[in-house]
This record gives sequence, C-alpha cells and structure tokens, in this order.
Amino acid sequence: MGDTGKNSHHWKGGRTRTSHGYILIYKPGHPRAFHGRYIYEHVAIAEKALGRFLPKGVEVHHVNGVHDENENYNLVICQDRAFHKLLHKREKAFKACGQATWLSCSYCKAYGSPGSMYVAKNGPQHYHRECMKVNAAMNKKKRVQHCWKEAVMELDGTKPIWVLPATSKAVPA
Ligand SMILES: [Zn+2]
Ligand SMILES: [Zn+2]
Repeated sequence: MGDTGKNSHHWKGGRTRTSHGYILIYKPGHPRAFHGRYIYEHVAIAEKALGRFLPKGVEVHHVNGVHDENENYNLVICQDRAFHKLLHKREKAFKACGQATWLSCSYCKAYGSPGSMYVAKNGPQHYHRECMKVNAAMNKKKRVQHCWKEAVMELDGTKPIWVLPATSKAVPA
C-alpha cells in the first residue's frame, strides 16, 4: 500500500498521487512536466479551461483545500506565487476571525483590522499598538542582555534599573 508508479496495483493509465495528495498525470513533453513526463492534474484542468499553457510562474489554488478535487469550481488560477500566498493568508484570516482582510498580530497572534495594526518598518510583521510596545521592550531587553552579559537588568515598568554583579569591580569611574 502507498506505493505509486507503474509497480503499484493502483496504477491506472498514467494517473498517480503525490505524498501531498496532488494528482499527477502522464503528459510527456509538457512544459511543466517533471522529468519530462508528469504534470499536476489541476494544471491540466486549468489549462483546458484557459485554452492554453499556463504562463511561467502562474500557480493554481484549490479553493476548498482538497488537493485532489480538481474540478473547475475548485480551482483558481493565480497570476504568481505572491497572489497565491495572499489567498492563503486571507483564507486563514477568514477562518480565524471572519474577516479576510484582517491581520494577525506577530506578538499575540490575535487578529485585528488593518487600520488598528502597526506595520513593522523592516519586515512583514503587524502588531497591535500595545503589543508593539511590549515587543519592542522585550527586543530591547534581549539586545541589552546580549550586549551586557555581565549585567542584570530589572524593569520596574517605567525605567530600567541596572544591577552590576558583585564580580564586576573593574568599572571605570
Ligand atoms: Zn492554494
Ligand atoms: Zn497583539
């Protein structure tokens, strides 16, 4: 059981299943063929509907997430990987909070409306206002701990208090 390919008794005229649940069909010479022989069935269905080969970089999305349900109603042709990823992101948001455009907070993981979230300057992260403060404080603490291995920092909530360990005698005045 579980084996695929020509040695399998499940083999039915060049149609097989990948470990990820996708169907492969025998299409030698197709531009997207693996090892020049097999392509994804969902690609073939999309191309049939489109009437031509899918352009390079174009991906096919399964609407209900079932990878072998390759009917027209279940397939969306995505212009590129970025669009495909966006669909998945929105699906995830919709399932989590009922709002496809809401964003997941990188700190607390809860969803918030795009207008209520802060976007990190140098990354794809989004934060609630409060979460950004906490996250920034924690990052600062991590950085400080990294730079000052010998120092112990305690936060009383507003200002940092520095306590040098007893062994640190060589602190210049
Ligand atoms: Zn998809
Ligand atoms: Zn948050």
